[in-house]
Amino acid sequence: MADTPRAVVLLSGGLDSTTTLSIAKAQGFEAYALTFRYGQRHAVEIEAAGQVAAALGATRHTVIDIGLGDIGGSALTDDIAVPKGRGADEMGQGIPVTYVPARNTVFLSFALAWAEVLEARDIFIGVNALDYSGYPDCRPEFISAFEDVANLATKASIEGTGRFNIHAPLIDLTKADIISKGMSLGVDYGLTTSCYDPAPDGAACGQCDACLLRLKGFAEADLEDPAKYV
Ligand code: ZN
Repeated sequence: MADTPRAVVLLSGGLDSTTTLSIAKAQGFEAYALTFRYGQRHAVEIEAAGQVAAALGATRHTVIDIGLGDIGGSALTDDIAVPKGRGADEMGQGIPVTYVPARNTVFLSFALAWAEVLEARDIFIGVNALDYSGYPDCRPEFISAFEDVANLATKASIEGTGRFNIHAPLIDLTKADIISKGMSLGVDYGLTTSCYDPAPDGAACGQCDACLLRLKGFAEADLEDPAKYV
């Protein structure tokens, strides 16, 4: 085991995962950032993730290709329109078409596999149950259940060489709280991208759920969003 504890941090290049990476670093972990090219229409976020990983001092940044686009079933990976201009009430009802089937289960499984190889026992994920878009795999019950899986499914769990911890430090924060937390840790949110449906040059649409939640968060934190909008 390394002297400095290692953690695998899921990093999409968005606001939440970037804040989560800064928290993992602030807690003294050597961060191994993990990003997926999963067939997302907003693949510009992969580039953002690389910049964020470098800026925040991740020890390594790995991008893994997984073809969730071959399965489809989401507005993010399939030929389904991304909803625009929805109000908070509408967003709070049901599971939106931007839900990617089982995405966080898939992502956490890869993170767990890498953690085993790295002899890391800590995994960070930037899920948020408050200002979120109604995704079932962003709930605390899911995170806790996955932690149980991690402690059943691995070599370490049989050999008794440590327990896996799934950290979800943003789980009960508002978007404004998340932004304030990140700012206090020196995050440059200009490097991040949240939009589900950006323009070819990467500019955010300003109208999808992710853009609206992000803009609302900056407004409530009384800050200007440094991201580029169309
Ligand atoms: Zn957008």
